[in-house]
Amino acid sequence: MPQLKVLISGAGIAGNALALLLAKLGHSVTVVERFPLLRTNGLQVDLRGHGIEILKRMGLEPAFRTKLCPEQGTQMVDRSGKRRGFFPANTSGEGPQSFTTEYEIMRGDFCRIMYDANKDRVKYVFGTWIESFEQLDNHVDVIFSNGQSEQYDLLVGADGVGSQTRKMLIGGPRPGAKDPTHPLGDQYVCYFTLPWPMKEDEEFIATVYMAPGKRGVMTRRQNPNQLQIYLGGSSDSKLLKAARGDVEKEKQAIAEIFQGAGWRTGEMIKSLPDAKDFYCERLAMIKLDSWRKGSVALVGDAAYCPSVQSGMGTSSSLIGAYILAGEIGRACGEANAESPSSQNTKNAVETALRAYESKFKPFMKDIQRGVKEESGMYPESQFGITLMNYATQLASLFKVDIARWMMDIKEDVKGWKLPLYEELE
Ligand SMILES: Cc1cc2nc3c(=O)[nH]c(=O)nc-3n(C[C@H](O)[C@H](O)[C@H](O)COP(=O)(O)OP(=O)(O)OC[C@H]3O[C@@H](n4cnc5c(N)ncnc54)[C@H](O)[C@@H]3O)c2cc1C
Repeated sequence: MPQLKVLISGAGIAGNALALLLAKLGHSVTVVERFPLLRTNGLQVDLRGHGIEILKRMGLEPAFRTKLCPEQGTQMVDRSGKRRGFFPANTSGEGPQSFTTEYEIMRGDFCRIMYDANKDRVKYVFGTWIESFEQLDNHVDVIFSNGQSEQYDLLVGADGVGSQTRKMLIGGPRPGAKDPTHPLGDQYVCYFTLPWPMKEDEEFIATVYMAPGKRGVMTRRQNPNQLQIYLGGSSDSKLLKAARGDVEKEKQAIAEIFQGAGWRTGEMIKSLPDAKDFYCERLAMIKLDSWRKGSVALVGDAAYCPSVQSGMGTSSSLIGAYILAGEIGRACGEANAESPSSQNTKNAVETALRAYESKFKPFMKDIQRGVKEESGMYPESQFGITLMNYATQLASLFKVDIARWMMDIKEDVKGWKLPLYEELE
């Protein structure tokens, strides 16, 4: 099998997963990450459907299990904190996951597990990014932010929802070109943690509270000392719109939006200035006609971000990385039979990228199709919330999975089969 020289931009979930799989196939892999060190921020992420199967095929399940969040389920509460419904995690190993899955982990722990598995066979370059690249006859010529340049057989952009690789690949905004970023109305989620120790009677349960004015709160715990707080909703607040990327202004806008929201939001807003890991995301999906050009491809959120609303961000970044690596293994294996040449390598790469796109795109299209682009899950009025609380009570009584009802979680796509790549076994 020809050994490819591969550059991956982004050491997040997709970048680390792809690096692991390509290194396993014996390719020479470099990961370039804009952040000065492994970026381990982020709160709880989960795996569902085929994402779980890929974790197993990557051989990472035992390490993942040592870092599992101990969450037992999800409860909905009303303004007074009274429980209106409880939905336990499905730990039976059968059927779809609940809102709390059997595979909950802190994003940073998952990145670290993959990084630790890779660090001896993958080259990581932190604090550096791609300034520009050009497709030459048989290689991609890359110029880095430190002024150095290098040629690669394959370049993969795994640099997240705001991917620079994607922008360079599609050539920036052109007149008449469709913007691949599809905002989900005015929906946002802010993530942060506070050092709030657990109360004596408290359990490891995700708690969801809805407030009028399209506002929602969720709290979770990965340990007894820290509370994860998620403040989300849909708002056309001018302050929030103007504050994009300015953490202090974002905090100010969120404090204003959640004023008088009820339940424990008063305490949360009071402590918000102290939150060191505050991160505000405007919900969006990425929809591209193509995820590749020549020897350059995109994977994960950079290519097909399904948004947090789909519950499939982490799983689909793993599945995409697996299919991309599998197709490279397959095409390079076949290329071996012919005479080894640069042209031959390039053809193998292009064949693999074509197959990756044609096999995985139908899956992602269907996952994204299930996500409501405008309305979101937040009721406007107290009446809407009262109805939601009754519905929650009924759902809990009849054990109906509320995650599918409130969010747009679709773990699987009917008729789509996860390929098995013997090269990666
Ligand atoms: C800091 C952070 C916190 C997050 N927190 C949550 C969370 O709490 N819950 C949740 O559901 N999802 C969260 N996400 C998103 C989640 O990780 C992704 O939706 C999903 O796992 C897909 O992963 P990805 O690898 O495609 O993208 P990401 O996980 O976003 O990783 C992209 C990586 O690329 C790097 N990068 C960006 N631009 C460049 C560049 N120009 N050159 C080189 N590297 C670059 C980033 O620093 C990051 O390390 C977070 C993402 C980040 C970056």
